[in-house]
Amino acid sequence: MPGILVVAEPLEGSLSGVSHELLGAARQLSAQGGGPVAAFIAGSEAQAKETIAYGADSAFAATNPALAAGTAEVLLPAVQAAIAQSGAEIVLLAQSSLGRDLGPALAFANKTGVAMDCVELKIEGGRLRVTRAAYGGNARAEHTWRGNPQVATIKAKSFDPLAADASRSGAVTTIDAAGEARIKVLGIEKATSTGIKLEDAAIVVSGGRGLGDQSAFQLLEQLASALKVAAVGASRAACDLGWWPPAQQVGLTGKNVSPNLYIAVAISGASQHMAGMSGSKNIVAINKDADANMVKVSKFAIVDDYRKVVPALIEEIKKLG
Ligand SMILES: Cc1cc2nc3c(=O)[nH]c(=O)nc-3n(C[C@H](O)[C@H](O)[C@H](O)COP(=O)(O)OP(=O)(O)OC[C@H]3O[C@@H](n4cnc5c(N)ncnc54)[C@H](O)[C@@H]3O)c2cc1C
Repeated sequence: MPGILVVAEPLEGSLSGVSHELLGAARQLSAQGGGPVAAFIAGSEAQAKETIAYGADSAFAATNPALAAGTAEVLLPAVQAAIAQSGAEIVLLAQSSLGRDLGPALAFANKTGVAMDCVELKIEGGRLRVTRAAYGGNARAEHTWRGNPQVATIKAKSFDPLAADASRSGAVTTIDAAGEARIKVLGIEKATSTGIKLEDAAIVVSGGRGLGDQSAFQLLEQLASALKVAAVGASRAACDLGWWPPAQQVGLTGKNVSPNLYIAVAISGASQHMAGMSGSKNIVAINKDADANMVKVSKFAIVDDYRKVVPALIEEIKKLG
């Protein structure tokens, strides 16, 4: 079986969270007959071994110092070498700033196609079949490839990572290739955020246009703080109105979240919003319209004015301590 190559990304001496998810996705494909899982990382042998602990059968550590630039053009020859050496017919990358560049560059270099921002993957008849949003989130498109490698970028939070297993072992091969750097990265600025990160929160409380005004988000913050492990997100309509930061938008053009509990307050449940949170384990809708889509898809719904429901909810949660 030719197999799968995961292009993992380093982060602060370790692996980025989405790299863990890619390895989890690759293991699922492998179980469906996709072949062995190899991982590529522009980093140390220790980082390569970490990819094995998270699900790879073998790994490539690309160690050329020029790769520190982190751009697609310098990484391309190294990833190409890993594809050739592993014989992989499937290449998975994150829908990250690197994956957005490197995915199309790999497809172009190999005269094949790339499917971007995929949310589902499966092996059918020995080939990769992926699903991604189309027509602004109003439809879902499935793609297959005629040629190889089948290159796909994966939307964050679409797959669960596996727990690390340090006892897993596999071969680590060093690659020295690097491309010419024509782009110079002058600096990287970390987005500052306070509190729990939306993508990592066990509970997400999100507010929509139905809140009526910006001050209502203070009420949602009180609910989130009573729940202790919650972050506050918003629909695009609420963000467009300037009520909540765009970086906290959930949906097709915002963040993907899959918390244990998603509390949607005054959000109608448009397909573009659902695209970012339908993977939530439990959805609770608070909406005054019993026919709202969010109410229909939720596990529990409270059909009433949020102004009555949310303060009462906060009070009851506080009683639980
Ligand atoms: C290309 C494209 C990309 C998009 N990407 C995104 C995206 O990433 N994320 C996103 O969210 N949207 C996205 N949208 C927009 C999306 O189509 C919807 O317009 C948007 O999600 C609606 O936001 P909303 O549910 O907050 O508002 P509305 O649709 O206006 O819904 C408000 C809800 O609040 C309820 N309500 C009103 N008052 C109260 C009250 N007092 N108490 C309780 N309930 C109340 C109403 O019953 C209603 O269900 C995108 C659209 C396009 C075309």
